[in-house]
Amino acid sequence: MNDPLSLFPPTRAAALDRIRDFAPHTGKTYAEGRNFYASAVEGGAVSALSPYLRCGMISQVELLRAVLEHHSEKEAGKFIAEVFWRTYWQGWLAMRPGVWGDYQTDLKRLFNEVQTQSGLRQRWEAACLGQTGIAPFDHWAQELAQTGYLHNHARMWFASIWVHTLGLPWQLGADFFLRHLLDGCPASNTLSWKWVAGIQTIGKPYLATSENIEKFTQGQFADVQGLARKPADLPASPHPDPAPLWEAGQPDTHLRSALVLHEDDLNPLHVLEGMTPLIANVALMATARQTPWQIAPQVAEFRANALEDARARLAKEIGLGAEVVASAQALADWATAHGAEQLVTADAPVGPTKDILDAYDSLPDAPPLVRVRSEMDAAAWPHATKGFFKFRDHIPALIKELV
Ligand SMILES: Cc1cc2nc3c(=O)[nH]c(=O)nc-3n(C[C@H](O)[C@H](O)[C@H](O)COP(=O)(O)OP(=O)(O)OC[C@H]3O[C@@H](n4cnc5c(N)ncnc54)[C@H](O)[C@@H]3O)c2cc1C
Repeated sequence: MNDPLSLFPPTRAAALDRIRDFAPHTGKTYAEGRNFYASAVEGGAVSALSPYLRCGMISQVELLRAVLEHHSEKEAGKFIAEVFWRTYWQGWLAMRPGVWGDYQTDLKRLFNEVQTQSGLRQRWEAACLGQTGIAPFDHWAQELAQTGYLHNHARMWFASIWVHTLGLPWQLGADFFLRHLLDGCPASNTLSWKWVAGIQTIGKPYLATSENIEKFTQGQFADVQGLARKPADLPASPHPDPAPLWEAGQPDTHLRSALVLHEDDLNPLHVLEGMTPLIANVALMATARQTPWQIAPQVAEFRANALEDARARLAKEIGLGAEVVASAQALADWATAHGAEQLVTADAPVGPTKDILDAYDSLPDAPPLVRVRSEMDAAAWPHATKGFFKFRDHIPALIKELV
């Protein structure tokens, strides 16, 4: 039962069941219980919906509608705010895509350093395998590898120990998460790791303490020895100014159009609205590009199964299709072979899928690609200019307009 695909069946039907079961618990029970650690097997007070939200198998709007059937906005305020953290991080990164590029560059350098510096390699391997001797940390490293999920508080403690106690580069920790998490999200993951390291909210690192771990694991891990008492002193550069978002558009419904499905939105109904019948569809899978190392099999398997579920579910709207590509050139070749005059797709946030879509745009002679942004992203992202607390002021209006 610990296997990731039993814990998180990769279908929209399973996600909808989970929403139905969880929505009544998004009020006081969530607010009071969310910080208490529980594994994916135990469940606890959190929803474990993140793998489904990550792949767009369910939308944030659908989730919020279900929540508001059971609670007022005020009662479910904590849960609603958490759901919007994800959108906030995506919007923040969308306006500063260079932060993702810098992380990629750092990872390439660290990939080489791990191969060439045996001291770093040993410390990194021990951390990834859960062999550091710090009991809760080792437990969570193994739990993540086995289940593809970690509770939020465990992610915070784990990242803190990785950076401040073990003194390992935060980028290697972010990569370890992105390789194993079913919900691995370039924005939430990269920026949360930076936040723990004290270089996102600059000068405010997150330091795990034994008392806090004991309290919120309800004694499962007590008297944890050897944790850093002072945060690592990491160089922080000022954040880039927010830049305008890249262009999203509306397809020309007169053109012979083909759909590009991808793992950032596996229920792209907003793309299909008003479209004349599509000539074909293709899946663009960027999973392997999340890391210079190998992605964990559970992540590849979850995404591949979720894609199959989407294709079966949408067969009436998009027709049958089985082809999968993984690069811009392969996508262009596929479009030409199918006589597509236009490709349409759901806009993808900053991350590997968008990297491929951007590379496609600069290919000569490839048919135009139109990215359709969801109403929520279009309305919410531009507010992520500063910190979350300023963004939060816009949540009531976003809910009124879109939920
Ligand atoms: C170091 C670190 C790395 C993280 N990496 C990721 C990641 O790769 N992908 C990811 O989706 N989340 C990430 N998070 C945020 C958070 O831990 C997860 O979203 C949450 O644990 C998912 O579990 P859940 O669905 O049970 O959450 P719930 O508490 O039930 O929340 C519901 C939804 O709200 C969103 N959410 C909740 N908390 C946060 C948060 N702090 N930041 C952003 N969104 C949130 C998620 O979409 C989540 O599914 C990270 C947090 C930390 C500290």
